[in-house]
Amino acid sequence: MKKIALLGSTGSIGTQTLEVVASDPSLEIVGLSAHRNINLLEQQINMFHPRLVCVMDEKKASELKNRVQAQGLLVEVVSGLEGLIAVATMDEADSILTAVVGMIGLIPTIEAIKKGKTIALANKETLVTAGELVMGAARDYGVSILPVDSEHSAIFQCLRGNEHHAVSKLILTASGGPFRDYTQEMLQDVTVEAALKHPNWSMGSKITIDSASLMNKGLEVIEAKHLFDVTPEQIDVIVHRESIIHSMVEYKDGSTMAQMGLPNMMHPIAYALYYPERKPTPCVHPLDFAKLSKLTFDPPKKDLFPCLGLAYDALVVGGTMPAVLNAANEVAVDAFLKKQINFLQIPSIIHEVMAKHICINRPSLDEIIGIDEWARVMSRQEVQKQ
Ligand code: NDP
Ligand code: MG
Repeated sequence: MKKIALLGSTGSIGTQTLEVVASDPSLEIVGLSAHRNINLLEQQINMFHPRLVCVMDEKKASELKNRVQAQGLLVEVVSGLEGLIAVATMDEADSILTAVVGMIGLIPTIEAIKKGKTIALANKETLVTAGELVMGAARDYGVSILPVDSEHSAIFQCLRGNEHHAVSKLILTASGGPFRDYTQEMLQDVTVEAALKHPNWSMGSKITIDSASLMNKGLEVIEAKHLFDVTPEQIDVIVHRESIIHSMVEYKDGSTMAQMGLPNMMHPIAYALYYPERKPTPCVHPLDFAKLSKLTFDPPKKDLFPCLGLAYDALVVGGTMPAVLNAANEVAVDAFLKKQINFLQIPSIIHEVMAKHICINRPSLDEIIGIDEWARVMSRQEVQKQ
């Protein structure tokens, strides 16, 4: 029996994780968390019977407490960051699957590592903000970080059985998002509704906007650097609109290995939960190659989508710069979703805030948290100016 605490259980990755768990009696949920969606969390409590749940929002947490008490359910309800840490570090859990959105996942992940929990990581903002600290802690405590992001799961699979020094490049595939065929003029007027329509994947709103701006790929480049210990020059991005090849590893002998499948997050979720085993996954069907008419590849349009270049810049500068990139992006995407800024203002705001930042090298966790707060204040000021 593998016991799992799932952070962000009410989101896109969270609900798909629960589908995998529901399909296999050898997987058990011991903890869950949500931000505000207590209706869905209540249903999940009834179905999975966790011992502990966290609702970030305190008012919603006390509402849920009343509801579960009225039903006589044996579940403890906690709230806030402390509550999230309590779920991430609960004694009963062997593994944590972290599927919250944003850098809020950072401290619970570090605390879970300190408790020796295996980490299945969907929450990419954690590694972007503090990749060196997180990977360093994982090494110190002998903990595995198993990627859930489909590109990183693909690379992780392509690396198995090969030597690190034999790797020449990691090639991340990108669908290109809903605006991959747009011109600069067309990008000027895109609506939130259009940006939320991803051609290949159904995901939470923040990552869907990140996919439209190519920031998602930028965050994934930084994530890949930390997970696989390569240089920025060793990471390439290629637009592959069919999303069949989930990413590739090029080796020094000229051979390239690709991991392929239909676009379905259930596979990387299950791979991380079962690793090192492979088991049948619900809703995941193998490829029928006879039905694949073509696979296409194009270079990313870096001029039209500057977020990708900004992410590479932040990675090359290092230190606290990726945390600034991430915080500014979180604020800008939130402002875009609230229709306070237009789509092209997302990269402008990030660029402005990065330009104002004096980078700290080898930052401590407290310094990263301080810089994250600073970058959010600066980004909100930029939003006001737009
Ligand atoms: P969703 O927005 O669908 O879900 C986010 C989850 O986190 C929800 O459970 C939400 O609760 C909770 N949450 C949101 N804000 C907070 C907060 N401030 N504090 C605590 N909990 C919070 O996101 P996704 O599932 O799409 O993405 C989750 C993570 O996985 C992201 O980092 C994303 O980049 C990454 N990822 C997602 C993929 C996908 O296919 N969706 C693919 C690869 C990576 P509530 O429902 O109550 O708001
Ligand atoms: Mg991805």
